[in-house]
Amino acid sequence: MPDFLNDAQRDIQQRADSLGRRVAALDTDALEAHQIERETRALSKRAGIFFLTQPTEFGGTDATCLELTIAREALGSYGVDHLPGLFGPTPGLLAQASKHVRNKFLKPYLAGEMKGGFGFTEPSDAQRHTWARYEGDGLLINGQKSYVTGGSHADFINTLVELEDVGPAMVLIETNSPGVQIIRRFGSIDGSHHASFSFTDVRVPSEHIIGDAGAGMTRALDQVNAVRMAIAANCAGLCGFVCDQVADHLDRTTSSTTAGSHQAVRVQFGKMRADAYAARSAVYRTARLVDHGDNAVNEVMASKTLATEALSSLVDLAIQIIGGESLVDSHPLASVFRRARATRLAEGSTEVLHGNIARGYLDLHLGRI
Ligand SMILES: Cc1cc2nc3c(=O)[nH]c(=O)nc-3n(C[C@H](O)[C@H](O)[C@H](O)COP(=O)(O)OP(=O)(O)OC[C@H]3O[C@@H](n4cnc5c(N)ncnc54)[C@H](O)[C@@H]3O)c2cc1C
Repeated sequence: MPDFLNDAQRDIQQRADSLGRRVAALDTDALEAHQIERETRALSKRAGIFFLTQPTEFGGTDATCLELTIAREALGSYGVDHLPGLFGPTPGLLAQASKHVRNKFLKPYLAGEMKGGFGFTEPSDAQRHTWARYEGDGLLINGQKSYVTGGSHADFINTLVELEDVGPAMVLIETNSPGVQIIRRFGSIDGSHHASFSFTDVRVPSEHIIGDAGAGMTRALDQVNAVRMAIAANCAGLCGFVCDQVADHLDRTTSSTTAGSHQAVRVQFGKMRADAYAARSAVYRTARLVDHGDNAVNEVMASKTLATEALSSLVDLAIQIIGGESLVDSHPLASVFRRARATRLAEGSTEVLHGNIARGYLDLHLGRI
């Protein structure tokens, strides 16, 4: 149980807990993806969890980082993570966009009538990062983005570009603009779907620059930080789920194993619980720092690496302890294993984040860790 929660926070925890139980009980094998999404959305709206990510002016409850952490951890403890429909679309970068962009895109996006993507990662062999220059009253954009989640169905992509003579800028690009092309659609091991895009002389109005031109990297990192926290909180919950699976297994098999081997597994299990506790403690402490308004960039990176690495090693060990049955595709641990693997690269690989933490301390003299 998360410590030191007030009544409102405990209420969110209980609602997310009962939502997690209901979503985990859905018969996903018997349902199509769109049916799962519809069911999940209905259950989440009924539990009041769907609205946590949405601003109050659009009927949401604009939850704090700690409240979102509580909800995501509770869902993770049932093996449930970022399923489509669980949380309402969040304004993200669009909250900082021009009035023109907010009027045209934000409302339909929050209502689920438009879909967006995030274009940051580039192909490793790109000759030049995606770039733009002012031309007339707009921008001319060229380049590629290689890994846009939900890109196949996106109406727009919030894209990081290098604006000539200015610096990095986040720009909203509509996917039906002339010159925008999907060059590959693909799925990844965790079950999510993505697309690669090329941009050839794509014209975009200047109002589509999100925030100040030149401050695009900071804007992009705000978004990335929020998603890193979401991943970390969910992984903290999934660590608990994995431990529960091993505990159930130990309960069931005590009489059928020799005393010696049982004791060895109990010791491994104790270490698993300690690792889960460490990751979860870091995530909760970081959420409180974020809500306090502190610069917590390093702590967010540390929470993300601690929780994703802990989950990956825990689920790997749990599968080893439980045996081949847990590698069957439909087993919950097989699914957690696939999802955990993706989290160590998504939103920044563990090594890149550790390199950044070192740079923060050694070169920039920033942060507390
Ligand atoms: C499920 C999923 C969803 C994603 N969704 C999106 C999305 O919506 N939008 C988007 O833009 N991207 C998305 N990505 C891409 C993701 O951000 C990148 O995969 C990630 O940042 C790693 O970049 P890369 O794949 O280019 O690998 P690389 O950066 O080429 O890394 C390859 C290896 O080299 C290591 N490495 C690289 N640089 C360093 C360094 N400086 N020091 C030490 N080691 C280093 C890495 O740790 C890694 O082991 C997604 C990825 C996944 C798995």
